[in-house]
Amino acid sequence: MDSMEIDAAWVRLLVRSAYLCCGVVIACSGLVLIGWQFDIAGLKGLFNPGQIPMNPLAATAFLLAGWTMYALLPRNTSTRRRLVGFIGAGVLIVLSVVKLFSLDIAGKGVDEWLFSESLNGNRMTPHAAFTFILVGLALLLLDLRGPRHWLSHICVMNAGVIAILSLAGAVYSTLMIYTVPAVIPITLNTALGFGVLCAGIFCARPRREPAATLVSATAGGLMARRLLPAAFLIPIVLGWVQFEGERAGLYGVEVGHSLFVVFNVIAFNILIWWNARSIGQIDAERTRIDQELHRQNVLLEKTTHDMVLFQKELQEAKESAEEASRTKSEFLANMSHEIRTPINGITGMTQLLLNTDLSIRQKEFMRLIDQSTKSLQGLLNDILDFSKIEAGRLELESIPFELREIISSTVQATSIPAAEKGLELAYQISPEVPDYLVGDPGRLSQIVINLIGNAVKFTDKGDVVLSITLESEADDIVTLTCAVADTGIGIPEDKQKQIFDVFSQADTSMSRRYGGTGLGLAICAQLTAMMNGKIWVKSEIDKGSTFYFTAEIKKQGNVAQKAVPRTETLAGLHVLVVDDHETNRRFLGEMLREWSMRTMEAGTGPEALEALSSIDGRSIRLILLDETMPEMEDYGIFREINRLIDGRSVSLILLVSAGQRNNPDLGEDTGITRTISKPVKQSDLLDMILETVSGTDVSSFKEETCGMVEGVLPRRILLAEDGVVNQQVAVLMLESQGHEVTVVNNGNTAVERFKTGDFDLILMDVQMPDMDGLEATRIIREIEKENSRIPIIAMTAHAMRGDREKCLRAGMDDYLSKPIQAEVLCALVENVPLRDTEQFLVSGTTTAMGANRTNTQTGSAEAVLIDWEKAVKNFGGDEVAVSSLAELFVSEIPSSITAIREAIETKNIAELRRHAHTLKGSAAVFMAQRTVKTAQRLEQMGKVGDLDGVDELCNLLVNELNRLKTALIERISLVAKNPRDSESR
Ligand code: ADP
Repeated sequence: MDSMEIDAAWVRLLVRSAYLCCGVVIACSGLVLIGWQFDIAGLKGLFNPGQIPMNPLAATAFLLAGWTMYALLPRNTSTRRRLVGFIGAGVLIVLSVVKLFSLDIAGKGVDEWLFSESLNGNRMTPHAAFTFILVGLALLLLDLRGPRHWLSHICVMNAGVIAILSLAGAVYSTLMIYTVPAVIPITLNTALGFGVLCAGIFCARPRREPAATLVSATAGGLMARRLLPAAFLIPIVLGWVQFEGERAGLYGVEVGHSLFVVFNVIAFNILIWWNARSIGQIDAERTRIDQELHRQNVLLEKTTHDMVLFQKELQEAKESAEEASRTKSEFLANMSHEIRTPINGITGMTQLLLNTDLSIRQKEFMRLIDQSTKSLQGLLNDILDFSKIEAGRLELESIPFELREIISSTVQATSIPAAEKGLELAYQISPEVPDYLVGDPGRLSQIVINLIGNAVKFTDKGDVVLSITLESEADDIVTLTCAVADTGIGIPEDKQKQIFDVFSQADTSMSRRYGGTGLGLAICAQLTAMMNGKIWVKSEIDKGSTFYFTAEIKKQGNVAQKAVPRTETLAGLHVLVVDDHETNRRFLGEMLREWSMRTMEAGTGPEALEALSSIDGRSIRLILLDETMPEMEDYGIFREINRLIDGRSVSLILLVSAGQRNNPDLGEDTGITRTISKPVKQSDLLDMILETVSGTDVSSFKEETCGMVEGVLPRRILLAEDGVVNQQVAVLMLESQGHEVTVVNNGNTAVERFKTGDFDLILMDVQMPDMDGLEATRIIREIEKENSRIPIIAMTAHAMRGDREKCLRAGMDDYLSKPIQAEVLCALVENVPLRDTEQFLVSGTTTAMGANRTNTQTGSAEAVLIDWEKAVKNFGGDEVAVSSLAELFVSEIPSSITAIREAIETKNIAELRRHAHTLKGSAAVFMAQRTVKTAQRLEQMGKVGDLDGVDELCNLLVNELNRLKTALIERISLVAKNPRDSESR
């Protein structure tokens, strides 16, 4: 039944009908009882005037039944009301049973007890009593379901049949069918009462069959509603007419019967036709709907089919877009290769030319060429970066770094152009910003460099200030706001949004003046978005611009965010900061106070003198003095300060503009202890103050360029390279170091020459005609299987991910990307062990380096690795002390190597920097130039967070350390054997 749709209006009607039935039954039975009470014949024989009146007990039973039905009618009624109903039904059943079995109480029937005087032998018939029992049971079991049917329905149906029989009997006076022998028949009104009660009980639960079909919103429901009343009314009416006609003698039984049949046939035929027509209409409607449904189905199928096709097309389009993107990136790789190769030629040649004797004008031209090449390289990198971001191939690294280190190195990298334009460049990081973070320091620097670069480019006078503040901080993440403010040309308001788009510039005429492509800010915007941040600008024409960006960066776990530097010795040190630039002054002051120093600040020369002359000023032990103050012209104020502090123990550090260290104008009498470049790097300043205050110099080691390293052992090198310019660049670079170079143009010849020649190393271009470098390497590796393995270093302009792995898989040992930097090439080549050192030493190859080596008495290794004499001299001639230091250092080498390797593996650049720095310092004691330099390079990598090529450099360092170890052990044993002899050396 649940599946059949119910017409709610009919349900309501049926329920209301049930209530109406209750009302009618209660009202009529009440009237009959009143009739009995007051002996009103009209009321006693209600609906049946002149006939036997309704028995008062039957009226009482009707009243009870009506009331019980009323109590039980609502489906979800209260328990109390239900209980009342059940008691009513129970009493009804008991009363009827007593009546049925004529159980007298004290000699009287139940009805006699009620209306003994007026009853006149009127007693309730047993079948009426039986019917009341059925009605009582129907009410009692109203909501009880049997195994297959509702129990109340079974009772009601039986009661209903009795009611209809009685009704027919009463109407047609056919006693035979409704009386029980020897008992008066059921009166018409009693029969009607039963009928109404049965109908009421059916209607009480309209959602149950058979009522459910009647109230359903289906064609069946419609039919039932039409036919049911007709099925009752037509036979009753026609039967009654026939009967009355016969009684009145209008026709005989046969004619009456025929008429009854004929009219029944006609009436039912009309009824059936009417309903059949309705069903036909419903059917036609259903067919129409079916057809419509079918049509819609076909349409749906077509749409689905179209969609499948569309999806297929989409998939194909996606695949072809992916293919296009692959082609694009291949094109990019090729383009990058094609462009890098000539750039390599230009940079290499420029570097070499700059080292030759040139006129000032020629040098100027060469510098311009160098600058242009560098911009071209920058542009190429920008385009590559942008394409990578666009293709979704750029991934941010997640490595630990120290923010302050990264930012100071980054700002310093941009300080020279700022100094050249006479701009003040300052930066400030709020103290609450955590230092130990995890993220992509390289990309963070890239954004900062871009913004500072732009600020410097578009500012002619004034300053550029970077400040970093804390926007928000959670348990494991911080959001930083970085602002780069300048006092430059500004950006018109309508251009302030579009400059972040690709190739977009605020004013093309300006950019012609200043140069640039319009890619920088677009890349910055993409990078900040990748760091969950945003970028925006506030600017005013001719007043300046401030670019802001935010970035979410993770914090390093398990790290105390504030590292406490070793500043105990500085606590309470009284320092005077003299700088006319307020931000710089404030920043310096804050930095010094963080290290527990006491500070005084002066913005002008006279203020500085005043401070020094004051009572407080007497305890000043250190002065930080800005060189670019107006009063510093001719160092006038300087001399005055110097005069004032003469005789006091005061150290002086001069803050000079970038690129101006060791200013030749500084006379002996200026009293300067040290100079440091602006913008001041926190750790450098701390180092310098510590050195100045304690009087020790931890970085006295003088750096030398690749071209100037002494004591390089020459290598025999096979260079396979097809580009003539590149050949020359490499040959010139290598020969300037005393190496012997044999050049071949392709892989085939390289293999041939390898077979016949005796080389220490092969430098192999990857892309060459006939046979490429990878193939040549594979063949060489097969040939040499039996012999020792020759180092092969790839030289390639391929700059895409995976190229390096390709080279290594082919059997190469290392990888150098073009444009080749002389320094890196030299370092790599020098790191290659000689195949036969003895042979070289004996043959005394006629190179400058060879000549150098023959001077050595204490062994080849040591001569080029350390300067023992100088180290001993630095220690006041105490060779034993230096030897003990050497022993200590040698014992620490393995753990240092492990620590560096670990730092590289975990990408912990802070640790890498620290260990490399320590190694650098230790090696510097023995004047081990090459080791110091390699360690320094590693340290630098750690500082800027760029670990490209770190493994090669680490291997290089390890080799150098091993050689250094041998040299030192040699020395230690010599000193142990013959201390006096070694002392005299
Ligand atoms: P590029 O500097 O290579 O042209 P960018 O994307 O870095 O490209 O900058 C886009 C444009 O935004 C610049 O051409 C310039 O017009 C404007 N712009 C950027 N930074 C500044 C600034 N600090 N002051 C004035 N204009 C600026």
